[in-house]
Amino acid sequence: MQVERFIFNSFQENTYVVWDEKSGECVIIDAGNYNHAEGGTLVDFIEQKGLKPVVAVNTHGHVDHILGVDFVMKKWGIPWFVGVGDEFLVKSAANQGATFGLSMGKIPDISHELPDGDNIYFGGSSLRVISTPGHTPGHRAYLPFWRGRERQETFHGRHPVP
Ligand SMILES: [Zn+2]
Repeated sequence: MQVERFIFNSFQENTYVVWDEKSGECVIIDAGNYNHAEGGTLVDFIEQKGLKPVVAVNTHGHVDHILGVDFVMKKWGIPWFVGVGDEFLVKSAANQGATFGLSMGKIPDISHELPDGDNIYFGGSSLRVISTPGHTPGHRAYLPFWRGRERQETFHGRHPVP
């Protein structure tokens, strides 16, 4: 399992691409790409690596973490998973964005709400969904597994506001 981190939008938000080397299947976590250039950075990376996005997932529903979700869903025809409990934040993303001078565009449709303990599979790798409420009610962390073995790092959202 490999990871690349991108820093996007005016909040310096972390977007991760996590991929399974053997299959090239990848997960996009917290797609925060905002403008054309940031979208291009993400597309270029994924195309140059020959990766195949299978799902977009979010640590939580704050606007800075979802600015690029509609873009990646349409670009690769993938679903979007968010933790149970953060739908209200997604629905209010346009208002959150306006507060910070960010234009949300289309609010992405949630394909599936992740409960604690769910697993996200891509190639021979997976991420275990862990409920970590506090920053938001539906906040989720993702614990990587590779061939059944737990890895060291856990993916979680940035916690400064928002
Ligand atoms: Zn947040």
